[in-house]
Amino acid sequence: QVHGQGGVKFQNWAKTYGSSPELYFQPTSVEEIREILDMARKRDKRVKVVGGGHSPSDIACTDDFMIQMGKMNRVLKVDKEKQQVTVEGGIFLSDLNVELSKHGLALANLGAVSEVAAAGMIGTGTHNTGIKHGILPTQVIALTLLTASGEILECSESINADIFQAARLHLGCLGIVLTVTFQCVPQFHLHEVAFPSTLTEVLDHLEDHLKRSQYFRFLWFPHSENVSVIYQDPTNKPPSSSSSWLWDYAVGYYLLEFLLWISTFVPSLVCWINRFFFWLLFSSRVENIAISYKIFNYECRFKQHVQDWAIPIEKTKEALLELKAALENNPKMVAHYPVEVRFARGDEIWLSPCFQRDSCYVNIIMYRPYGKNVPHLNYWLTYEGIMKKHGGRPHWAKAHSCTRKDFEKMYPAFPKFCSVREKLDPTGIFLNTYLEKVFY
Ligand SMILES: Cc1cc2nc3c(=O)[nH]c(=O)nc-3n(C[C@H](O)[C@H](O)[C@H](O)COP(=O)(O)OP(=O)(O)OC[C@H]3O[C@@H](n4cnc5c(N)ncnc54)[C@H](O)[C@@H]3O)c2cc1C
Repeated sequence: QVHGQGGVKFQNWAKTYGSSPELYFQPTSVEEIREILDMARKRDKRVKVVGGGHSPSDIACTDDFMIQMGKMNRVLKVDKEKQQVTVEGGIFLSDLNVELSKHGLALANLGAVSEVAAAGMIGTGTHNTGIKHGILPTQVIALTLLTASGEILECSESINADIFQAARLHLGCLGIVLTVTFQCVPQFHLHEVAFPSTLTEVLDHLEDHLKRSQYFRFLWFPHSENVSVIYQDPTNKPPSSSSSWLWDYAVGYYLLEFLLWISTFVPSLVCWINRFFFWLLFSSRVENIAISYKIFNYECRFKQHVQDWAIPIEKTKEALLELKAALENNPKMVAHYPVEVRFARGDEIWLSPCFQRDSCYVNIIMYRPYGKNVPHLNYWLTYEGIMKKHGGRPHWAKAHSCTRKDFEKMYPAFPKFCSVREKLDPTGIFLNTYLEKVFY
């Protein structure tokens, strides 16, 4: 009885990847999803679930059947005593943040955007920063999966423990995530302080910075020594702000987009644009206090290509200095600001880039001013080479050139993940082109 729509075009947030699903579904119940799976099996089609469509890669793309989980987005249970919440997989974190706040609760960490689904965010291992904090899926204590056979599996540390360690970063290939249970914390406010520094200072005193602030990250402005250090820490002080949203937006968005567009004709301008914007927006101290999710989430401006690898934390200085030197030795290779450097605690999630090691994520971007593609292949290859050399593992959501051979070397638990996947989805109904590169 379930109705699939034809002619829908899917595009990710950055409009860098898209597909044309033969049928597009927005189910409202498990029974409907089972019907879709039945129909797919009968017609020999594959099925891909999409959450917020924010992944900057083709991980959520398919030309067969696409399921968008936006109508399965309820909060199912709030346990105030244990500070735990169970939600349907399609709920956006933006809605969950508000719901949790009504119960005096919050997620301990969030990424830059919350217009992502609970199941989608754990699908790719979304992370933020803070060396005492793991990637976001470490906040998940249980989940339920609808497998290819139509069976519902409960997973946690104590039930189906192996599947749980695989499904906490599932790549969308183990089944359909129906519910997710998060361990929350009491609601809190964050005090954000951003101040200027230099790459040398930050790299020489990394340990101090990591100790000084619970959610420390920094933005490096390539082709220069400029750095903006950002500290975020819980506070009891009332909300306040010393930044001007209007000024930041008018200048940080519209002027930047226009100047970057000009630079597509004169690439050497990029180095001056990076310096100019540092001077304009990041060269003085700025403070903000607000409820945690409003500080964790920040403006990512316009469409962009992005890569984000995690390297062992002790390699941070070496890797960044190599990237800086590569740009200096290659004046034709231009890099947009910022290179965003974040940190995460090691964990036990099989496909987590932080599996069994504290890590530093180095996020590089190339904007697409007015949707225009900016050459970035050289920069991408140089960066990937440096990350690989230092034992890096790429963010699963973001485009990378790795294949099964690379993942076998990077992830000690890769064979275990493959065997769980093959058991739960023997015919590969949940695969797509991206996942074929990972598993074949
Ligand atoms: C502006 C912007 C800012 C970002 N900031 C950050 C950041 O700070 N940190 C970070 O780590 N990443 C960041 N990302 C990447 C983003 O967090 C991840 O791509 C995340 O996975 C997106 O969630 P989504 O709901 O959009 O997932 P989608 O892109 O829709 O899907 C991701 C994966 O999950 C699967 N999936 C989705 N729902 C289900 C389900 N119910 N069952 C089974 N599989 C499912 C999909 O099939 C796919 O494999 C950012 C992306 C953008 C565009």
